Amino acid sequence: MTETPASDAWFDRAKAVSPGGVNSPVRAFRAVGGTPRFMASGQGAWITDADGNRFLDLVGSWGPMLLGHAHPEVLDAVRSAVGHGTSFGTPSGPEVELAEEIVARTPVELVRLVSSGTEATMSAIRLARGFTGRDRVVKFAGCYHGHVDALLAEAGSGVVTLGIPGTPGVPAHVTADTIVLPYNDREAVRAAFTEWGAEIACIITEAAAGNMGVVPPEPGFNAFLAEISAEHGALFISDEVMTGFRLTRSGHWGLDGAHEGWSPDLLTFGKVMGGGFPAAAFGGRADVMSRLAPSGPVYQAGTLSGNPVATTAGLTTLRLADDAAYERINGWSAQARTLVSEALAAEGVPHVVQNAGSMFSVFWGLTEAPRDFAAVQQQEAWRYRAFFHAMLDAGVYLPPSAFESWFVSAAHDDRALATMAEALPAAARAAASAREEDSSS
Ligand SMILES: *Cc1c(COP(=O)(O)O)cnc(C)c1O
Repeated sequence: MTETPASDAWFDRAKAVSPGGVNSPVRAFRAVGGTPRFMASGQGAWITDADGNRFLDLVGSWGPMLLGHAHPEVLDAVRSAVGHGTSFGTPSGPEVELAEEIVARTPVELVRLVSSGTEATMSAIRLARGFTGRDRVVKFAGCYHGHVDALLAEAGSGVVTLGIPGTPGVPAHVTADTIVLPYNDREAVRAAFTEWGAEIACIITEAAAGNMGVVPPEPGFNAFLAEISAEHGALFISDEVMTGFRLTRSGHWGLDGAHEGWSPDLLTFGKVMGGGFPAAAFGGRADVMSRLAPSGPVYQAGTLSGNPVATTAGLTTLRLADDAAYERINGWSAQARTLVSEALAAEGVPHVVQNAGSMFSVFWGLTEAPRDFAAVQQQEAWRYRAFFHAMLDAGVYLPPSAFESWFVSAAHDDRALATMAEALPAAARAAASAREEDSSS
């Protein structure tokens, strides 16, 4: 492993003042071992750590950096916005322009801006419950919607299970109304509506699952969810915090609903729409969104919601995210997937590379494409630990967990692809010779 004295020193200081030394758990490298790299700067597709090591970045801040790091036009817009003052606690122009851009790109009629994806999904669920007057929420195992209490429920092994909290600190009664189903399983959804149809406020799903590795919806699955919700007077919430403005101009909906002729009742956004700043949103049908305070009784608020600097960064990012940018991102992702797959095949490592648009991830030791969380959990994640560190040593920064999507930016170019190609053979060899028992700690 590469010596990283400055990152080690920062990590020691961090652990002395923060739980686990981080402000979000997956950053701590627990799944892959070793010391997290403390990043000092980024430019385009590249990031540089506190020791001056340069990496090709396949994480992109977990999705937001669609244009790459330190895009000059985004930086100019942010500098200009900062010069005018950073927060007023009043309405301001940039938040209206960002809302207009979101409404223009998506099926959303009205939108409320918030500061994180967690806030967006939490508020969307409250609104769905307030609108329908019902309490139960359907979610899918392996889908992550932020650290919302009611949504931190694990699946049991049954086809239809009531949510059991996935973490201490969430009272059982808070997830008792959460129904957790296997992803892509229409029968399970039908069974849940047969049992609780009149009590279900909403279904919430990732538009394409990206938080258990990438597991796309089977063709027609999202349309089915929209239809069965409508049949039973429940709302369909499509969580596009990860996919929104990343897979197409209009997110994952641009790949299915836009062509199939259906729209979610509510959508949630985050990540890309903040351009690297804390901005997120939920929106949808005007009659539902109008139930939100101050036009309706469902309360929701935020001191920094619609912050002028964050919304300027997001607006500038979205305006630059044109068809050409999506073409570059999709093209690079397809080439990278081929490179990874060829390198692993050359070393005889069984694997599945699965994608939803430009988002992709590798499932280790599987021979069939996984369609739900149970299948995903069968993978040999320990192979990833060896692969990850070999890639890191060769200057490629991948997500520090096998259960995460890899993210591409419009700044990923031929040189970035060459760096991948150079790093892959040794990493594939490391994955091939990894042993499960080497992976404890
Ligand atoms: C990241 C993510 C969230 C949570 O967003 P935060 O900004 O981290 O709170 C919610 N839903 C999905 C699908 C996500 O990927």
